[in-house]
Amino acid sequence: MLADLHVHTTASDGTESPAGVVRRASALGLRAIAITDHDTVAGLQEAQDAASGSALVVVPGVEINTDYNGREVHVLGYYPRLESRFVALLRERAEARVRRIIRMVEKLNALGIAIRASDIMARAGGGSVGRPHVAAALVAAGAAADAREAFERFIGRGAPAFVPREKFHPAEAVRWITRVGGVPVLAHPGTIGDDRIIPELIAVGLVGVEVYHPEHDEDTTKHYLALAQQYGLVVTGGSDFHGEGYHASLGEVAVPYAAVQALRRLRRV
Ligand code: AMP
Ligand code: FE
Ligand code: FE
Ligand code: ZN
Repeated sequence: MLADLHVHTTASDGTESPAGVVRRASALGLRAIAITDHDTVAGLQEAQDAASGSALVVVPGVEINTDYNGREVHVLGYYPRLESRFVALLRERAEARVRRIIRMVEKLNALGIAIRASDIMARAGGGSVGRPHVAAALVAAGAAADAREAFERFIGRGAPAFVPREKFHPAEAVRWITRVGGVPVLAHPGTIGDDRIIPELIAVGLVGVEVYHPEHDEDTTKHYLALAQQYGLVVTGGSDFHGEGYHASLGEVAVPYAAVQALRRLRRV
C-alpha cells in the first residue's frame, strides 16, 4: 500500500509517457502515484485514462517552479481544479520557460555552440520545456558527453549559459494552488537550504512538506519529519521519477497510502 507522490512524464522533462509511467507503477504493485510535471497538467488526462479500471490510483498534481531570493523552490500542488484561470497561469509559466530557453540558446550561440531553440522545443514535444531538453540538445550537438556535463559546463547555476528563472514567488504558487481547491506541499526542502521559507509559506496556506525524497539523506529526512510534526504539516514523499537512469527509479521513494487519504481530505472540490 505505497504511494509515489512525485512523478514526471514527457509532459515536462520526464522521458516516459504518462501511460508508460502508469504501466510501470502497476507492474511494481504501487497503490498510487501522483503525476507532478513541472508547470503543466498536460499529462494528467492520459495517466488517469491509462489507470482507469485498474487498482492504481492516479493523484492529479503539478510541480510549480519558483524563485525565492535567487534560490530554486518547487511547490507541489495536489488535486488542483483545472479552472481556466489556473490553466492560464500555467500557460504563462510555460511562456516564461520558453523565454528563458531562448535566452540560454543565445548565450550558447555566443559561446560558439550551434544549437537552435526550435530543436529544443521539438525535444519538449509541446510539453513544458526545460533545461534537461537543452542538455539533451547539447549532447546531440557533441558539446557535452552527457546531461551532467552539459549542466556543469553550460547551463547549471553559475555556468556561462545559465539564465535565472523569471521571478515567481513560492507564496504565489501556494496561493494559486489553494485558490483552485488544491493542496500545496513544499517539494524537497532539503535542496533549498533555508528553512525560514516554511513558516512564511504556512502563513499563506502551505499544508504539507515533502519529507521523503531522493535528495534527502537520513539526517535531512529526520529534520523535516520533525519540522512537519512541529508545524502540523502533512508528510509526503516520492521518487521525483524522470525516467530510467536519471535520479531515482519509480517507487524507489514512496510513502504509505494514508498520505493520499490525507491529501484527499484537504482538497476542496
Ligand atoms: P528547469 O526547470 O528548466 O530549470 O530545469 C530543471 C530540471 O533540470 C530539474 O527538474 C532536473 O530535472 C534537471 N536538472 C537540474 N540540475 C541537473 C543536473 N545537474 N544534471 C541533470 N539534470 C539536472
Ligand atoms: Fe525535472
Ligand atoms: Fe523539484
Ligand atoms: Zn520534480
